[in-house]
Amino acid sequence: MKIANQNNRAVLISGDQALDIEQASSGRFPADIAALFHVWQEFSEWAQSASFASAGDLRQDQFGAPSPTPLQGFGIGVNYAKHVAEAGWPVPEYPLVFPKFPTSVTGPGTTIALSGPRVDWEVEAVIVIGREAHKVSADDAWDYVAGVTIGQDFSDRDVQQRPESHPQFGLGKSFPGYSAIGPVLVTPDEFDDRNNIALGSLLNGKEVQNSSTSDLIFPVGQLIEYISGIVTLTPGDLIFTGTPSGVGTAWNPPRFLREGDVIESWITGIGQMSHTFAGPEPAHA
Ligand code: ZN
Repeated sequence: MKIANQNNRAVLISGDQALDIEQASSGRFPADIAALFHVWQEFSEWAQSASFASAGDLRQDQFGAPSPTPLQGFGIGVNYAKHVAEAGWPVPEYPLVFPKFPTSVTGPGTTIALSGPRVDWEVEAVIVIGREAHKVSADDAWDYVAGVTIGQDFSDRDVQQRPESHPQFGLGKSFPGYSAIGPVLVTPDEFDDRNNIALGSLLNGKEVQNSSTSDLIFPVGQLIEYISGIVTLTPGDLIFTGTPSGVGTAWNPPRFLREGDVIESWITGIGQMSHTFAGPEPAHA
């Protein structure tokens, strides 16, 4: 099953058709996709046999973030074996988890203001939680996942490294638009192997990242076990699962995003999204 947030209404997708979930269910399920995650089990059952008789055209140009207002967003650092190698880091003993503050969420086709001269791209598979989860085991973890979407964990490398003695990643990865997700949410059963999902990104049409979630040091099950062992995950929450090699900071010389650059991101079985970069916002509102 694929769903999207089209013109601020939850839609079920089949081919190039979009079915308005609130209308097709005669109001049983909400138009607000964020509210839909709170009734995900019941919705999933209803969706199995939903009629597309009243479906309209799919309009990807009207898509917003598939979970636009998560209560919590998490990012995982140093989680791809090759990315860890390119940066010269040791393999971590525990997942490196940082907040992606929810106000940084944007949809799949937006223009984003650069926050400084050292902003980087990070394509990621993003998990959207479909059921409250606390102390869930890795074996059961996928049962708590609504679906997978494409993410970009845009990162201001200067801010991410502050303060030098005790770097905290959260703020540097939470400027407006730096948690980009979309275009659709795909349920785990749609993937041939949900632990081997191909993903990549292109800078101005040239490939810069190309990998698979099979290279994750801590796969999705282990991430959910670890995070839910500490906090309670809630429906609609996002987990950015980490980025593969090919980020700009690891280039020689480094290459950071500039005004006018376009980053395209793709995941096999989900689709692709595109973001354009604008110059910085004024220092003060
Ligand atoms: Zn990341």
